This record gives sequence, C-alpha cells and structure tokens, in this order.
Amino acid sequence: MIDTIAALANRMQPHDLIYDPLLEELGSLFSRMDGGYDDAARQAGFHCSGCDKNCCRSLFYHYTMVEYLYLLKGFSKLPTEAQKRIMARVKSPENETDRRPLCPANEKERCLLYPYRPMICRLHGIPHFLSRPDGTRVEGPGCDAYYRSTTGENRPLLDRTPFYREMAALEALIREKTGFSGKIKMTVAEMLAAHNSDHNRIL
Ligand code: SF4
Repeated sequence: MIDTIAALANRMQPHDLIYDPLLEELGSLFSRMDGGYDDAARQAGFHCSGCDKNCCRSLFYHYTMVEYLYLLKGFSKLPTEAQKRIMARVKSPENETDRRPLCPANEKERCLLYPYRPMICRLHGIPHFLSRPDGTRVEGPGCDAYYRSTTGENRPLLDRTPFYREMAALEALIREKTGFSGKIKMTVAEMLAAHNSDHNRIL
C-alpha cells in the first residue's frame, strides 16, 4: 500500500507510460470542462482578461492523483530552462507582505502549464452548482471580475456535477493502478516541490 506522494514518486520510473491512457482521458475531460466554462461565460457575456486580484495568487488546493500526474506530465514537456525558472520560484516564492505569492507556473501573466493546469484553475470565476450523491445541491460564487462585468439577469450557473463525477471515476482507476491510498491536498507549488525532491522523478 502506498500512502504518501513521496513513496509513490519513488516507485515510479521516469517516462512511465502505463498511466498515459488515463491521463489522456483526463485531457478529454478537461476539454469538456473548458467547453462548459466557455459556454457559461459566453451566456453571461463574461470574458476574463486578467485583473489585479489574479486568481493565480489564490490559495488553490488540488486533491487528486490524476491531476498531480497530469501537471507533472506537462512540466516534463517544458524546455529545461523553463523548468529551472519554475523550480527557482518554487524554492524562493515572491515575498510580498500584502498579497499571496503568484503560483510558480505563472510567468509574465502567463501560465506555463496552461494545457495541464488542474481543474480548479479551469473552473474558477464562474458561479456554479454541484448536486451531491445524497441529493443536496451546493452553490458557489463567481469571482469579483465576473460580478463586475455581468448582470444578475443573465448569470447561468455552471453545473460541475458531471465533471466531478468523471474526475472521481478517473481518480479511482489511477489509484487502483498505482496502489496509492493517501490523501492529497496540495498547491501547485507543493506538487512541483514533491516531484522535484531529491529522489523523486515522475514521468
Ligand atoms: S497552474 Fe497555471 S492557471 Fe493554475 S494557478 Fe498556477 S499559473 Fe495559474
């Protein structure tokens, strides 16, 4: 039984391809998520063009193995120099007193891991709802920029339910394959730091 990210990482080999089919399925799920986001944004007349609150400064946690491996796959495809710049920011994040540091993958207002970014980076900003297995419905708000640029008459809620269900199914499959049983709650910086610790080499 593998219950820590480090233990899992130590067991995996560089360029381990056995997870690729599941990561491809995640890529396809992410495309559908992006489509759902775009539709909801279009209906509301919302276009994200960046803002001073930059959501890449938000404290986002990520909870799945499958997103972790997908992010690392993206990282492994970057040129070495870009990897080094990201890891330098992981080791020495910005030190500003009045706001959180930017995610280390963000460079000059651009996400270097954009096609591989986790789910919450894709869905943040648009108000949404989720139907839980017990039948309860939970709603979540959009970001400040969304409310500034849209009107109450036309703010459709994005239904995250099918996306979360598919993500849970993929996560169950990848845990079965890896034997990983631990809990995950990591920022992108922590994911990259775990991957790049002395003995860890994934994908
Ligand atoms: S992974 Fe990319 S989109 Fe997500 S917080 Fe980091 S820079 Fe922003």
